[in-house]
Amino acid sequence: METVDRSTIWPYDRNGEPREFFYVRYGHPTGAAAEQRLGQLERGDATLFASGTAAATAVVLALTHPGAMIALAEGAYFGTSVLFRTLEPWGIRFVEYDQTGPPPPEADVVWVEAPANPVLTEPDWEAVQAHPGLVVCDATVATPVYLRALDRGADVVVHSATKFLTGSHSALVGATVTVDPAHTEALRAMRTKTGSVCSPDAAAALLTGLDSLSRRMKRITATATELARRLEAHPGVERVRYPGYSGLISFDVADPRSVETRTRVIMNATSLGGVNSTMESRHRWEGDRIPEGLLRLSVGLEEVDELWDDLVQALG
Ligand code: PLP
Repeated sequence: METVDRSTIWPYDRNGEPREFFYVRYGHPTGAAAEQRLGQLERGDATLFASGTAAATAVVLALTHPGAMIALAEGAYFGTSVLFRTLEPWGIRFVEYDQTGPPPPEADVVWVEAPANPVLTEPDWEAVQAHPGLVVCDATVATPVYLRALDRGADVVVHSATKFLTGSHSALVGATVTVDPAHTEALRAMRTKTGSVCSPDAAAALLTGLDSLSRRMKRITATATELARRLEAHPGVERVRYPGYSGLISFDVADPRSVETRTRVIMNATSLGGVNSTMESRHRWEGDRIPEGLLRLSVGLEEVDELWDDLVQALG
């Protein structure tokens, strides 16, 4: 069991000098422990944030500059495009591009997502490596179990650790992972200055989640692989997208609202990556950016037949 130190201050040493921890906005013991464990998994230096979105914001503020152009993977997490649009008045420019091909040469930052949520495309890593810009990879869906993006050419890995890494819909937490000490230092300084630190309780939930990450991801993948295969053969399903690993399946149906509201085991809710399966139509959030009939299913740890029976009755 993790013990959580919820203090916001720690005493200076005998000479009146700050020790490793002195004020929680700069860092705290549970956060540091979770950073060490995530860093080991990713083989880099992890920095925790209050959310995945806070981590992405810190990357933009700490590692880009006014006038910077970000090329974001098309069909990547909707909130990331909303964030970049929100930062446009501060001089950030952004375009969306098809990450299965080369990024726009003029981009200062290439922001890929592996795989993109919810369209589940993969980055063209060779093209990404050949690009001179800063490469950021949101690896929330892959997790370090299936991808070490730093080894594939990313300078910065971003996680919404709210999802598979914590794995129980119990904490909002984000992370960056970097290898260049200047990047790590800039991100940590930005976190302190903007106050986007994660809470000790969220860091403790992440530590607990990381303990079972590998086992969860393998079982989730086995279940999702089988469900994707069965969905392919279902007459009510028009198209199935599944990258072959992790827990997201996106499939198209004629009337997504009627399907999502009829499930009994699968929770009709947003978010993903928990031990309990969730499913929702993404059109309600993203509009015509994605197909109207697209349902995003996040597979949890239930039995495959229990999930399949639920899907079959919901599909009518
Ligand atoms: N990245 C991806 C791929 C996501 O799916 C999400 C949230 O759904 C985020 C980032 C944002 O994470 P958070 O909700 O922790 O801010």
